[in-house]
Amino acid sequence: MYQLSQDALAYIDSCAEELIALEKRLCQIPAPSRREQKRAEFCKEWLEKAGAKGVYIDEAWNVVFPVHAEGSQQLTLFTAHMDTVFPDMEPMPMEERDGRLYCPGAGDDTASVATLLLLARYLITRNIQPEKGFLLVCNSCEESEGNLAGIRQIMKDYAGRIQECYIFDGLYNQVVNWPLAVFKFKVTVKAEGGHAYLNFGNASAVACTAGMIHEIYQMKIPEGCKSSYNVGVWSGGEVPNGIAQHSEFLVEMRSQLNENLEILRQNFLQIVKKYQDQGRWEIQVEPIGSLPGKEGVDPVVQGRIDEKVREILEHYCEGKTIFRSGAGDINIPMSMGVPGISLCAYKVEGVHTREEYIELDTLQTALTVNMTVMLSCLE
Ligand SMILES: [Zn+2]
Repeated sequence: MYQLSQDALAYIDSCAEELIALEKRLCQIPAPSRREQKRAEFCKEWLEKAGAKGVYIDEAWNVVFPVHAEGSQQLTLFTAHMDTVFPDMEPMPMEERDGRLYCPGAGDDTASVATLLLLARYLITRNIQPEKGFLLVCNSCEESEGNLAGIRQIMKDYAGRIQECYIFDGLYNQVVNWPLAVFKFKVTVKAEGGHAYLNFGNASAVACTAGMIHEIYQMKIPEGCKSSYNVGVWSGGEVPNGIAQHSEFLVEMRSQLNENLEILRQNFLQIVKKYQDQGRWEIQVEPIGSLPGKEGVDPVVQGRIDEKVREILEHYCEGKTIFRSGAGDINIPMSMGVPGISLCAYKVEGVHTREEYIELDTLQTALTVNMTVMLSCLE
């Protein structure tokens, strides 16, 4: 395993209080997806004060710090997302209690941004020039509203030049190395309706969506990998004595394999078509989001990254590392054949709730792990 130098360890030690202060400062800068401007400006200024040259904010509001990256076709990307899942544009309540920092977004993914900034300063102050070049990015738009616009912009601007990517995001001891392919649809049904008694037998929008949803839940999961589907939202009708004229639902499908997701998608559309063909209802299907799954990633390189990160995590954290599938920034590089991993080494609970907190004494561990991961890429 890559061993940190005495100098790196001393640097990490010297950052203990600053890391917590920086985390708190960042937490207090509102950054809903697509409105990360203030946090982005803070990160850029922080980096510049630390001596960074060439930092810029791109059109997606990513803060990009290229390190010896010019002309390189073999860049390593390190990234942590600035945005939070909540829409609040006022600083959110923050409280330190029992060694924990409570604040929505504290762990997802603000603390990772704080570690990334401190890693950047280490590279700057030690004048480390990675031979193949690094890209350090505080990225935007990871949460659902953002539709991964930040990482998409990076992969577009550095098309074909990124060789590996390390995403500092997730849950303690868990890594995501297999992004899920995702499809989301909204189905809207309009029907004739009428009086529940006098017009009994008229087409009902609720009966239609109920039938479709029932059939969706009969769909078989294609063999070969884990997949899932879910109708998470369903509404319709207005009054008990009126035949429903309107009903709608949202359905989401996920799979580890693009081709299996495609089977589910086709089966779902078949069900909708069956109801459309009956001509009793006006049915609309609208795609409301999709994520590409893993495609063309070299399994040998991926295996090497997995093993390296597992070793580092198991050295510094408690327990075994769990490898799992997930959806997020990792989807975009890995759908383009770039091997990558998403990891987190601080303890966080209540992600995507207003009760979210991190265990402050694990922040140093995360800084150590992230530093080890980053510096191991110099070799
Ligand atoms: Zn999140």
